[in-house]
Amino acid sequence: MGSGEPPARDFIRQMIDEDNRTGKHEGRVHTRFPPEPNGYLHIGHAKSICLNFGIAEEYGGLCNLRFDDTNPMKEEDKYVKAIIEDVKWLGFDWGDRLYFASDYFDQMYEYAVQLVKDGKAYVDDLSAEKISEYRGTLTTPGKESPHRDKSAEENLDLLERMKAGEFADGEKVLRARIDMSHRNMNMRDPVMYRILHATHHNTGDKWCIYPTYDWAHGLEDSIEGITHSICTLEFEDHRPLYDWYLDELGAYHPQQIEFARLNLTHTVMSKRKLLELVEDGYVNGWDDPRLPTISGMRRRGYPPAAIRSFCKRIGVAKVHSTVDFEFLEHCIREDLNMTAPRFMGVLRPLKVVLENYPEDKVEEMELMRNPEEPEAGTRKVPFSRVAYIERDDFMENPPKKFYRLAPGREVRFRNAYLVTCKEPVKENGEVVELRCTVDPETCGGDAPDGRKVRSTLHWVSAVHAIDAEVRLYDRPFTVPDPLGQKDTDFKTFVNPDSLEVLRSCKVEPAVGNLEPFDLFQFERLGYFCVDPDSTKQKLVLNRTVQLRDTWAKIQKRQQAK
Ligand code: ATP
Ligand code: MG
Repeated sequence: MGSGEPPARDFIRQMIDEDNRTGKHEGRVHTRFPPEPNGYLHIGHAKSICLNFGIAEEYGGLCNLRFDDTNPMKEEDKYVKAIIEDVKWLGFDWGDRLYFASDYFDQMYEYAVQLVKDGKAYVDDLSAEKISEYRGTLTTPGKESPHRDKSAEENLDLLERMKAGEFADGEKVLRARIDMSHRNMNMRDPVMYRILHATHHNTGDKWCIYPTYDWAHGLEDSIEGITHSICTLEFEDHRPLYDWYLDELGAYHPQQIEFARLNLTHTVMSKRKLLELVEDGYVNGWDDPRLPTISGMRRRGYPPAAIRSFCKRIGVAKVHSTVDFEFLEHCIREDLNMTAPRFMGVLRPLKVVLENYPEDKVEEMELMRNPEEPEAGTRKVPFSRVAYIERDDFMENPPKKFYRLAPGREVRFRNAYLVTCKEPVKENGEVVELRCTVDPETCGGDAPDGRKVRSTLHWVSAVHAIDAEVRLYDRPFTVPDPLGQKDTDFKTFVNPDSLEVLRSCKVEPAVGNLEPFDLFQFERLGYFCVDPDSTKQKLVLNRTVQLRDTWAKIQKRQQAK
């Protein structure tokens, strides 16, 4: 999508090329993105979405969106809705192939009956604790359940009664009958069904037994005729079990391919951890712009094309690695630099009175909409006698190398005039206003005598300015790896300064015409977007990312190593 360059031949694409060459799936390529609706999607999921939908698109194949909704205790319809919205927003389309694992519950049950009849599955009375105890360890074999050797008829009867609701939660389970001393712990008689008297968001109260993830997942892919079942590395050890189930059932086999999950510095990615931050009030909901959720990034102003470009550029591999948050920001900045219109806004205003500028005069100054895109043309910005500039663009006693405004110094007000500061006005020792003059010969910002000034400031005309609240964000955690700190809860490392709210910002009038989620650059300050909290009375803006690109520096350091 979008960026045009041919996708790299990573190991997954090489495998698919090979399958196509040998005609393994008759040249078909059919992938799927299978989220569990137990939380909102994050940027790790974006990687998986771009990979699955991207591959289908490249090979002229199909990609399904399938909800892996086998656990009614944790899943909710609101998550289904949010996930659908997020995948669409990222720019992908599953046509009419929106599926739910719960659509297949009947068929899964039929498959289970088949295994029971073949003596390959049995109903067990052991408690969850006992099952785990009997499982053994990586170095010691497990122990067989005393209930393992019942007849198929007896097991079938018990399974039917489990389904009919005769037993309480946890009283019985259905297990595959494989090998309690198998080297791979996943093969030690794994549980296939557990009893849960819970209402399911799709099937209501029809079922009181629910399939485990491991029993369900391979079946879902098989039922949908998925050719390449792409998943993260932790499922590598589960592949033999999925294969065992499908072999015993004589069912269609997708090819599972594992890749390393995305990790990002200074944040956490698991839905369970994100839920903790949301529920314990560390952030303001799943779409808090500090979170790496797709809805958080949308609200922060990250363009979907930039997220897709990031996912493409990090590539896929078989070994775990962590991507610097700065690289994500670099991709965002790169995209916005080309696309975002420019405006002026002052975050921490300092009033400037231009004493020799007429009281009632207003001039329309002409500024570029986007210097990267000259065809976009110019915009008009009103200029008058009283303006706001950034508080830290003035110093009363400037140190060496501070070239901005100071008493007696001349600077440029962008595309307006050269302005000289006469003196600051103080109240209780604090500078509250600057008395300045303009050189009337310099309208547009340049002196006819060619004299130079060392800095150019942004400004907003006071009578025309719109008030705005601006929210500035910093990284959500103070350490690069909040989950990897021994014996310390990750929430200990939540950055207390990750949100700063500035309530008296002054912005150029045209910003008031923007809609929620519109993106733009405030000259010299960074990229911003309109927050959906904005109302007619109150404009609320988010800073998406700063202008300064720290990624280049990090890259240099890494190359030096
Ligand atoms: P989480 O631990 O964040 O809840 P999950 O793997 O349990 O993640 P699922 O809803 O089961 O979440 O994931 C849907 C798909 O997204 C799976 O195929 C999974 O492998 C993939 N996925 C999840 N997290 C990442 C990640 N960090 N990087 C790449 N792919 C991921
Ligand atoms: Mg999961």
